Amino acid sequence: MASIGLVAHDDKKDDMAAWALANAERLSRHTLFATGTTGGRIEAATGLSLTRLKSGPLGGDAQLGAMIVEGKLDAIVFFIDPLTAMPHDVDVKALTRLATLYDILFACNKSTADAVLAAI
Ligand code: PGA
Repeated sequence: MASIGLVAHDDKKDDMAAWALANAERLSRHTLFATGTTGGRIEAATGLSLTRLKSGPLGGDAQLGAMIVEGKLDAIVFFIDPLTAMPHDVDVKALTRLATLYDILFACNKSTADAVLAAI
């Protein structure tokens, strides 16, 4: 069983809800954490139980980063919107940096997320 963090930017939340629904059975084998709004969408779409952190712009991405540092996350699935500027871009960058530094699985799109979920 792995600990997985789930995040999706606003334009990617529909994609995340659909991906989580398609993979609900696999995801149910793991411990799930999500930023606030993303977590709500996943819960509504799938009925999966997960721990909801703060919303991303209010520090949810930073919370996931701290969890990486503390060794509490094995993987992140982060559906990033590559076309929109974010007020919390620094937090997104920090999360990306920490996932790289601590060498955890980090999926930024659906194809990679599928591969990661198949591997853990
Ligand atoms: P949210 O945060 O799930 O609360 O929208 C995600 C983000 O924008 O980083």
